[in-house]
Amino acid sequence: MRFLILCLLIYFGYRVLKGWLGVKHLGGKAERDEHLTSVDDVMVKDPYCGIYFPKRKAIEKVIDGEMYYFCSTECRDKYLEEKKKS
Ligand SMILES: [Zn+2]
Repeated sequence: MRFLILCLLIYFGYRVLKGWLGVKHLGGKAERDEHLTSVDDVMVKDPYCGIYFPKRKAIEKVIDGEMYYFCSTECRDKYLEEKKKS
């Protein structure tokens, strides 16, 4: 009888451990997927109009040594104009 109880304890211990490892594994997978999407399609914010859009479609412009991403040349020009004024 004691042997049976011991078997049950080992069985449940194994199940808990397996479940815990499974959850941990799933968490790691989700993190990886998130990383993949961020590399694949980075969203950047237009500092002029404030919308988010994919980086690969951005108009890049270096202002004061910092890279800025604009959704259009229009936004870029207007942002530069405002920068000049201030
Ligand atoms: Zn814009």
